[in-house]
Amino acid sequence: MAEPALLILGGTTLAVALARAAAGLGIPVIYSLAGRTRPKSVPDVAVRMGGFGGAAALADYLRQKNILAVVDATHAYAAQISENARLACHAARRPLLRLQEAPWRQMPGDHWQQVANMTAARDTAAKTTARVFVSTGRQAMTEFADDRRCWWLARVIAPGADLPALSNGQYVFARGPFELADELALLREHRISAVISKNAGSTATYAKIAAARELSLPVIMIARPDAVAAPMVETVANAHAWLKDRLG
Ligand code: NAP
Repeated sequence: MAEPALLILGGTTLAVALARAAAGLGIPVIYSLAGRTRPKSVPDVAVRMGGFGGAAALADYLRQKNILAVVDATHAYAAQISENARLACHAARRPLLRLQEAPWRQMPGDHWQQVANMTAARDTAAKTTARVFVSTGRQAMTEFADDRRCWWLARVIAPGADLPALSNGQYVFARGPFELADELALLREHRISAVISKNAGSTATYAKIAAARELSLPVIMIARPDAVAAPMVETVANAHAWLKDRLG
């Protein structure tokens, strides 16, 4: 039987911070990444990369690796892995905690329009505006590639063969955290008239929302997927305390 360990499903700043904190609990920590992009930073614990092969395979992994508890610290919009984690923990009878950033809240001066999904965001932009900044991740780019109704400025972390060419727009490549002054300069330079965003909740990517407020630009905000049915915390400290409890 493998040595008992904790599993943290990662890919977020909070996940890295939790893995670093959990390394002090005296039990091995396995940090898991989907492996689509090269991570900016990885914690100094065992790191595994790539999908598990679905919920049933994840349940097998939990048993084989003698995982005592799982923290799903993936991004709020990574709905598939969160659902897989819920199913796998149920099947393998492992405790599961969801660690997720609290969503950003509208402030005076914000002009947000809430939409249900990426397609609705694109179509709302096309009806109302002309030059749109989109920073919703590379997988969403197929939605914008052939759409000529707006000019799209799409920010993704890095170039790659998976990125479709934009027939009316351009890519910028950058990795957060982003500063307000830089976001203001980017939006001004490209004469952006609206921003499409997910409600990530992270301070690292909030500057574009503050910049839109300062420039009185609308933000088309894509709703978060429904949260999985699992206990949820919003801070590393609370997740760490939960893990400590599980270890008795
Ligand atoms: P997703 O749609 O929920 O997951 C798709 C598949 O990728 C999962 O079924 C799983 O494959 C694999 N996977 C995802 N996260 C994994 C992890 N941490 N460890 C091992 N396998 C994982 O996820 P996504 O939206 O593509 O996001 C991929 C990763 O990027 C996530 O870990 C997330 O934290 C991070 N991220 C996502 C966003 C976003 O906007 N969605 C933003 C920033 C960071 P199998 O079914 O084969 O196990």
